[in-house]
Amino acid sequence: MCPTPSPDPELFDKVVNLCRRRGFVFPSAEIYGGFRSTYDYGPLGVLMLRNVKNAWWRSMVQLRDDIVGLDAAILSPPAIWEASGHLTNFTDPLVDCTNCKQRFRLDQLEDPDRCPNCGMTGTFTEARAFNLMFKTQAGPVEGAGHDVYLRPETAQGMFVNFKNVLLTSRKKPPFGIAQIGKSFRNEITPGNFVFRTREFEQMEMEYFVPPAEADTWYEYWVGERFRWYQEFGIPAHLLRLRPHEADELSHYSAGTTDVEFMFPWGWGELEGVANRGDFDLRAHAEHSGQALEYFDQATGDRYVPHVIEPAAGATRSMMAFLMAAYHEEEVRGETRTVLRLDSRLSPYQVAVLPLSKKDTLRPMARAVLAELQPHWQVEYDETQAIGRRYRRQDEIGTPLCVTVDFDSLEDRAVTVRDRDSMEQVRVPLDDLVGHLAGRLGNRVC
Ligand code: ATP
Repeated sequence: MCPTPSPDPELFDKVVNLCRRRGFVFPSAEIYGGFRSTYDYGPLGVLMLRNVKNAWWRSMVQLRDDIVGLDAAILSPPAIWEASGHLTNFTDPLVDCTNCKQRFRLDQLEDPDRCPNCGMTGTFTEARAFNLMFKTQAGPVEGAGHDVYLRPETAQGMFVNFKNVLLTSRKKPPFGIAQIGKSFRNEITPGNFVFRTREFEQMEMEYFVPPAEADTWYEYWVGERFRWYQEFGIPAHLLRLRPHEADELSHYSAGTTDVEFMFPWGWGELEGVANRGDFDLRAHAEHSGQALEYFDQATGDRYVPHVIEPAAGATRSMMAFLMAAYHEEEVRGETRTVLRLDSRLSPYQVAVLPLSKKDTLRPMARAVLAELQPHWQVEYDETQAIGRRYRRQDEIGTPLCVTVDFDSLEDRAVTVRDRDSMEQVRVPLDDLVGHLAGRLGNRVC
């Protein structure tokens, strides 16, 4: 039986600290005192985030023949957001405490009359609808007619390109359009590290289906997406599916289910899978005057496809993968920190470690590095005692270390050490690539 998960606040600090210390994620603009709730992805973070996105892309696009990709513009005209309803509806209710001047999202307060900061009751202003979209202007002239928005989701890019993709890809429903990219929301209460930021990356797919098949495909995508997080290493007991209550659903949605993860503070959304009906295509057709429908030449049917949307956060998912992978264990009286990341997500798949820095080992170690680099992301590290170097690799999740020692010069073999079991095996250099490929399984990048 898996243990029932429970929030673990200590884990949060440990992972955030590791991210900072080892170069996964840095607070942005740090030399200027930081810029609240924005983050920069460092040398390890950029590798891991890319792997998360590649893993998603591989599952959603590469391994299927019914989904194609798109990379739409981030800057977008008001017309898109008027049609989608974001200009009027993409708002959070905002209240200010007149006593302590703090600002809150009304829907996140435990008691809507009591300020959680200063404890006063009855000090809140009337709630205001605060639009979460970032507005800027295109070109040197300010004012009406020049407004543009940074997209708050990638989804609308897929809807407005529906016709382009349909005509050029020659797909027919059921088919999907997938996109990965940055989105921007002026969140009132960003926080919990990269869980909620104002600038973040999404991985979204719009799946267009004949109306009668919508329920079946909705069930299918809920199951697929739940399975995906497990395939990449999150244990099932740290995940759950949460169907939305009727009062949470958008008026057009026939159903939404969130995939949630047990974050250190409790359950939180990783992804929402929504059965959106024909709302989006109809809204854009109406506002643009363009027909956004499918004509089935075989049957003579003309219809507006329904849409199933699995919408995930790349940066939020990366955080969940890190949290789920973080382990501490006792090894010979010392605490070992190990990130048990799936090798397809870990920043490095292999580390090459010459036993000593001496010139005698370096040429062979560098030759091994050059042989492995075309196949994997490889770290080369020759400083400090070998035990400490293993620990450094454990802590950043590198699944395999290859050690070149003095015997290697004689027997032309190296030691391969496993991150999780810490077992070591001797492997002839001539077999090394095949041996590692057998153990690392499918590569993502
Ligand atoms: P939440 O309820 O957490 O605000 P949402 O339901 O508004 O999220 P969606 O619009 O469904 O989110 O976006 C899809 C995914 O994008 C979310 O499941 C999440 O992983 C990610 N996401 C949304 N907002 C943010 C944010 N501010 N920072 C990081 N990731 C985000």
